[in-house]
Amino acid sequence: MAYKTVNPYTNEVVKEYPYATQEQIESALSNANDLYNKWKLEVPQSRAKQLHEIADLMRQNSDDLAKTMVTDMGKLLREAKGEVELCAMIADYFADHGAELLKTKKLETIATGDAQVKKHPLGTLLMVEPWNFPYYQIMRVFAPNFMVGNPMLLKHAAITPGSALAFEKIVKDSSAPDASLTNLFLNYDQVSDVIADPRIQGVALTGSERGGRSVAKAAGFNLKKNTMELGGTDSFIVLDDADIDEVTKIAWRARLYNAGQVCTSSKRFIVADNLYDQFVAKLKENFAKGKPGDPMDNQTTLAPMNSEKAKDKLQSQVDEAIEKGATLAYGNEPVDLSGQFFQPTILTDIKPDNPAYSEEMFGPVAQVYKVSSEQEAIDLANDSDLGLGGIVFSGDPKRGEKVASKIETGMVFVNNFMVSLPELPFGGVKNSGYGREMSDLGLNAFVNEQLIVTATKPNMDNLAGGLVATDPE
Ligand code: NAP
Repeated sequence: MAYKTVNPYTNEVVKEYPYATQEQIESALSNANDLYNKWKLEVPQSRAKQLHEIADLMRQNSDDLAKTMVTDMGKLLREAKGEVELCAMIADYFADHGAELLKTKKLETIATGDAQVKKHPLGTLLMVEPWNFPYYQIMRVFAPNFMVGNPMLLKHAAITPGSALAFEKIVKDSSAPDASLTNLFLNYDQVSDVIADPRIQGVALTGSERGGRSVAKAAGFNLKKNTMELGGTDSFIVLDDADIDEVTKIAWRARLYNAGQVCTSSKRFIVADNLYDQFVAKLKENFAKGKPGDPMDNQTTLAPMNSEKAKDKLQSQVDEAIEKGATLAYGNEPVDLSGQFFQPTILTDIKPDNPAYSEEMFGPVAQVYKVSSEQEAIDLANDSDLGLGGIVFSGDPKRGEKVASKIETGMVFVNNFMVSLPELPFGGVKNSGYGREMSDLGLNAFVNEQLIVTATKPNMDNLAGGLVATDPE
């Protein structure tokens, strides 16, 4: 069986699903293409009501949707409910603003005639999504592209099939056309075949560098537009004038939210030497408060990781980091529960030749670095192949902003937790990928921005210097 829910708290195999058949794939492609041909004749506004309905259905079914996610990948129930609400907010935002953001744009030009850029849908998209935010990752692509008029096929992570089906059901229970979103349990070869199909016009992937390279290769070979939302080793910079009380209230959350399994989790804390000892002491204190247990229970504050495989990988990264010279400042003790728990852990004294210096650790492990100047903090933050997000804390917000603009990542928050909201663009640079999701940038990721220039009658007078054939002498 290909797709499988294994509850990471109980280790119970909940349900297994076979790979999609050729007939299912063909039917999904054909129905999506028919819908594209219908949608391209309609205006985005005509879909707004259906998207609001999807938001309403998510809110009405929040408890069940959240429990499905918890069973699939183990996150805390209250965090799961927050994720459902965020999905509803994203759907509402694009329902309210999508049509306006997709309006035709008039251009000033010396060309004869009226120039305008019209925004048309591209066609059917394939989205390939990860398990860490099983609904939010889908919604980031779904809501904007539903307004654009691009039908979507979903290939979700193999460990979150329950969530994939639950999201698809919400869409099918609404008055949106069934082919708006079709879940397919695809294997990797089938993903490549679907990308190669001429009816697919774009590919959106969120996931690891490894997955991203493979899917981007297939998309590139087939000349399909694509966006890549990949991993991060985000830094949390504490400048020497930062308010340490504010910093410590946020730092542990920035690492432990979603059991540390967030692309934009703060993975490297880069702390000015005057605040370093205080920072590490407080981080230990806050990490020690984590209460492992059933993620469905509201008293639990430390959730299991998503799978045994993920926990084993993190354990081997921590073991290797220590073996290669890192100091274990806190944690790394086994948790006495059968689920896939990993004790929050703090590593210090990580040198550039330690593999931990450059690897993404996708779980509750914080790396803390001591620096003696602002420039050293910036250089260290930028000494990474990845460039997703980051946080800067300073007593002077303007100084924080200046430092933020020197960080080579797609997103930086000053004096606050990183948040993801529909109006804010989300995405990275370097090996963290390319393209943006959400905001007007995400809405326009898979749009044919078609130029139309209309003259009442041809006029050659004002084309000097243009790329036009001149009359033979
Ligand atoms: P992953 O292994 O790359 O999986 C992500 C998705 O890609 C899954 O659906 C996976 O399918 C699929 N996939 C992987 N390799 C593939 C291939 N060769 N061909 C076709 N599909 C393939 O990522 P992960 O490790 O589960 O997710 C965690 C990573 O995602 C972290 O690095 C994290 O930082 C990153 N992430 C980035 C963002 C962002 O917005 N930038 C957000 C969240 C997570 P299977 O499950 O079947 O393998």
